[in-house]
Amino acid sequence: MAKIIDGKAIAAKIRAEISAEAAKLKEQGIVPGLAVVLVGEDPASKVYVSMKEKACADVGIFSDEYKLAAETSEEELLTLIDKLNNDPKIHGILVQLPLPKQINTERVLEAIAPEKDADGFHPYNVGRLVIGKPLFQPCTPYGVMVMLKETGVDLTGKEVVVVGRSNIVGKPVAFMCLQQNATVTLCHSKTRDLAAKVGQADVVIAAVGVPEMIKGAWIKEGAVVIDVGVNRVGEKKLVGDVEYAVASERASAITPVPGGVGPMTITMLLQNTLESAKRGM
Ligand code: NAP
Repeated sequence: MAKIIDGKAIAAKIRAEISAEAAKLKEQGIVPGLAVVLVGEDPASKVYVSMKEKACADVGIFSDEYKLAAETSEEELLTLIDKLNNDPKIHGILVQLPLPKQINTERVLEAIAPEKDADGFHPYNVGRLVIGKPLFQPCTPYGVMVMLKETGVDLTGKEVVVVGRSNIVGKPVAFMCLQQNATVTLCHSKTRDLAAKVGQADVVIAAVGVPEMIKGAWIKEGAVVIDVGVNRVGEKKLVGDVEYAVASERASAITPVPGGVGPMTITMLLQNTLESAKRGM
């Protein structure tokens, strides 16, 4: 049976380190600050925003929440972002997605100052990641990399297969693995013979959004499996993108869903805010 990579435990360890560092900064008169902007009433977004605020409070990061009405214009949102870009108390700005239809998401993300882009979605930060000189790294892939490191996985020379090529998970995690000297294959919905590709992998990173579409039998004996997928099945059950029951009998280490990658995402948002405050010193 595979070792279970416990995202909750790793997240707790990293959060304790962030908390200690934030306390040290406080002694020097610096409190890391995160601005969280929520536009509209999307129930899932509201939950994420309140989780982010609580996480900030727990580690001693100041968080400032801006709840804007669903009919807020793009102009109004851009004015707020400009104000936050120039606010010295704020080291990270996060605009919760999705935004309402009247607002151009790309324009908004590009209006965030790259040196306060806590989500790492600004093209400047994407470019820096690609050239191997990251400033802000997007939180979920950053969390995946920390999990691999904490599990003692050295990626040098390894075959990594990433399934999913989204801008928020698949593409950045592929570049991060490349930076760690892995040989990376990036798969997507048009990839031919996915089973064979996955079967070659020393490390599989799944970010698809289709419940258990990566079959356990495809996993090479001894591979490491990181499942980013979070899929609701029925009323209450959450499953990943990997067929966990079978995969966990073949893999050497595997993340569960829930309790795997999930807890890492907000943790890395805290880390990004802390790093930004330290850079601003
Ligand atoms: P996304 O933007 O929908 O991208 C999904 C990717 O999977 C696309 O590149 C798509 O290919 C590919 N794909 C779809 N069906 C496929 C198939 N049958 N075979 C191979 N590839 C296929 O999703 P995302 O935002 O990256 O999220 C992926 C999953 O991670 C979701 O379950 C999401 O909930 C979860 N997630 C979790 C966290 C967390 O904190 N744990 C954070 C973010 C996302 P094409 O490009 O060809 O369409």
